[in-house]
Amino acid sequence: MNAYMPSLINIWKRRKKTYSCRLCGSSIKYLYTLDVLAKHKVRYFECNGCGSLQTELPYWLDEAYKIPGVHIDVGQAARVIQTWIRLIFILENIGFDKSAECIDYGGSSGLLTRLMRDSGFNYFAFDLYDNAKYSNYFSFSSLSGRQPALVSAFEVFEHLPNPRVAIEEIFATRADLIVFSTQFYDGQGPDWDYLVPFCGQHVFFYREAGLADFAEQRGYALRRTADFLVLVRNGSPYTLHVVAAKAATVPTGFFGDLVTRIGWGTNDTLRDHVYAMERFQKELVEK
Ligand SMILES: [Zn+2]
Repeated sequence: MNAYMPSLINIWKRRKKTYSCRLCGSSIKYLYTLDVLAKHKVRYFECNGCGSLQTELPYWLDEAYKIPGVHIDVGQAARVIQTWIRLIFILENIGFDKSAECIDYGGSSGLLTRLMRDSGFNYFAFDLYDNAKYSNYFSFSSLSGRQPALVSAFEVFEHLPNPRVAIEEIFATRADLIVFSTQFYDGQGPDWDYLVPFCGQHVFFYREAGLADFAEQRGYALRRTADFLVLVRNGSPYTLHVVAAKAATVPTGFFGDLVTRIGWGTNDTLRDHVYAMERFQKELVEK
């Protein structure tokens, strides 16, 4: 073997990866090419197995995430607030144990985590690419060894360059519930607005049946509620509750009640404040 062989092998491996589905490993067929970040000619493929749509293996993500702020995603703040209200509603509806550990995967600014903690849930943020500024004392840098009862992942799955690896990592926690949102692919064309190619961050689009099969093979059932998609672990204590709550919608007045329940001075914020004060002062002295 000469000195060039390892790099040739890497190129071959990379090419091989590009031409198989990054969720199920089946062969993929070329559909069309779009301009990503207004300059990269990126090919989009459909999987012959799970039916998912995916870009070629993304090489532009550093560039896409380097652009500061939320830029075109002007709905992000409202989405966090809406998600918070709907999540509290559904979790209270199914009798979720508030003391159980929950992780917001791809938690970004940590705002949802903070609001969930303010609402009495034992929530933590996890994001490899953001600093969870609203909940930095309540965040994890790895999922390894964690056993949360719930993992949430809102508008995250379509960002995953290697969904098989990332979703299997979430399944490995054996969480009772994985609550998430994404838009499913069902044959939409290159003008589908969820592709947002100029932004470069959406790189994988799941067929509902394909994701359901993938999950089923790993012990999870894909369910829907009025507001969310939920992967329910086989044997989860919430299985029947999720089915029973599938059509439940947030009633008028729920938000008003919720607002009066949270905020500075409640038991939940005081608990976190005491912990944060102790940690902050300890870290000041250690500096
Ligand atoms: Zn596939």
